[in-house]
Amino acid sequence: MTKYVFVTGGVSSSLGKGLTASSLGRLLKSRGLKVTMCKLDPYLNVDPGTMNPGEHGEVYVTDDGGETDLDLGHYERFIDESLSRMSNTTTGSIYSKVIAKERRGDYLGKTVQVIPHITDEIKERIRRLGTLGADVAIVEIGGTVGDMEIIPFIEAIRQFRRDAGRNNVCYVHLTLVPYLAPSGEQKTKPTQHSVTELRSYGIQPDVIVCRSDQPISDGLKRKIALMCDVPNGAVISAVDAPSIYDIPLNMHEEGLDRIVCETLGIDQNERPIDLSTWQEVVRHVHNTTRTLRIGIIGKYVTMPDAYLSVAESIRHAGFAINAKTELVWLEAERVPSEIDSQRIRQLDGIVIPGGFGERGVEGMIAAARIAREHNIPLLGICLGMQVMVIEFARHQMGLADAHSTEFSLTTGAPVIALMEEQMDITDLGGTMRLGACPAMLAEGSQVAALYDATVVSERHRHRYEFNSRFVEDFEQAGLRCSGTSPDGRLVEFVELPSHPYFIGTQAHPEFKSRPDRPHPLFQGLVIAADQRAEGRAPHLLLAEVVETK
Ligand code: GLN
Repeated sequence: MTKYVFVTGGVSSSLGKGLTASSLGRLLKSRGLKVTMCKLDPYLNVDPGTMNPGEHGEVYVTDDGGETDLDLGHYERFIDESLSRMSNTTTGSIYSKVIAKERRGDYLGKTVQVIPHITDEIKERIRRLGTLGADVAIVEIGGTVGDMEIIPFIEAIRQFRRDAGRNNVCYVHLTLVPYLAPSGEQKTKPTQHSVTELRSYGIQPDVIVCRSDQPISDGLKRKIALMCDVPNGAVISAVDAPSIYDIPLNMHEEGLDRIVCETLGIDQNERPIDLSTWQEVVRHVHNTTRTLRIGIIGKYVTMPDAYLSVAESIRHAGFAINAKTELVWLEAERVPSEIDSQRIRQLDGIVIPGGFGERGVEGMIAAARIAREHNIPLLGICLGMQVMVIEFARHQMGLADAHSTEFSLTTGAPVIALMEEQMDITDLGGTMRLGACPAMLAEGSQVAALYDATVVSERHRHRYEFNSRFVEDFEQAGLRCSGTSPDGRLVEFVELPSHPYFIGTQAHPEFKSRPDRPHPLFQGLVIAADQRAEGRAPHLLLAEVVETK
């Protein structure tokens, strides 16, 4: 039977609940337990697919095509399990289900209410995780205790312990212990208030994880334990870590997995922990011998969470070759101003990530041109691949007005177009291609060499496609269509054999990179970037002009 850990947050948002939950997941998995995870989000959007990444961060895509919260990316990277759309539930999806049932008459004339109907539906989603065969399901509640929107979720997880049995549920509450400089002290009062708030809904936490910028002393932990009524060992200090990958090891040192196992009645002697894989990852994170500067050219660069998985994938690839990767964020709209073209030329490698809408597209096209003409390694992801194709058509094939029909319906060379447009069908309306799709890679291509395979599967999230009418023209001009859908109709990968690394993919490889298993396309990019860096004079000028975050 599946046991459940519920992770709530208090005092402030952005404390790192997702990373705490993910770290716990990794620790339990390292004890040989099968772990699954889920995020409950208290907003009214049915899923994050329609939310602006500039505000909410990236939309993470699962194999089954779920458009989910970015925390699922942390979950997958930390527990190394592929999750599904079942692992993300929002208030909007709960309400639409309940209202649909009400319209169908499923409630037999009863008054439909938040309690019990909404809370029952929440519990049903949580219970369903138990059908996945996991020993432990970790459920993170988005938002902060005290928020109005969170109340039905808190009530549902309170009831859940009664339903599932006391020993099958553990409540972990994450809070903030601020340091007040004038008095030179760390303060426990916000934690006490937050726990009081949680208790007012009937939940007594079993574990309190305290975020702080400096370690919390044993004395302070004892005080929190006394005031919040948890055992002394159940107050965990989660001090700011040099890298997110340090967090599981820090949490283990603090005893997080031990106290969670004790609460859930999991015998730790039967389940000794083996952290060797993760320790190896962390060794790589810290033992870097050189720095590579990888540019990310996108339209949401002031919100790096919009490209979270891309950034982590670049880092993973760096870990594998003991290189630190410094991410240089470049606002696509500002390219190609002179300073940015110079900056781009001084980068070791470039990623043009996915995106929707026209803003910044001309800048991305200009950046792709600089990368192609100056032999700078470039990985284009989804929209990034599309702009590489447009750029190549405009400047290498003489199709000056080449474009995607997403941005120009009157272009004479629609090298990127909706499937329907390519087949002259007008009534399909451009539905999104979502989730894992297989692709066949051409023998002898760069991508086949990188993947070391000719059949691969990657996750997708797009409407527009390489226009297959132009395949031959591109191939003749030197851009190879090196991977297609199994029926050969959709171009999935392009590459420029004459370039050190100029590869575009219609898919989103960033969702499948893991800290100990970098994705081959990112690995290839970073190796090419490393070669470029080695063959060049030290980055003296670069350090002065590059704005880094
Ligand atoms: N806007 C493009 C499309 O819909 C690319 C999408 C993306 O980059 N995810 O095809």
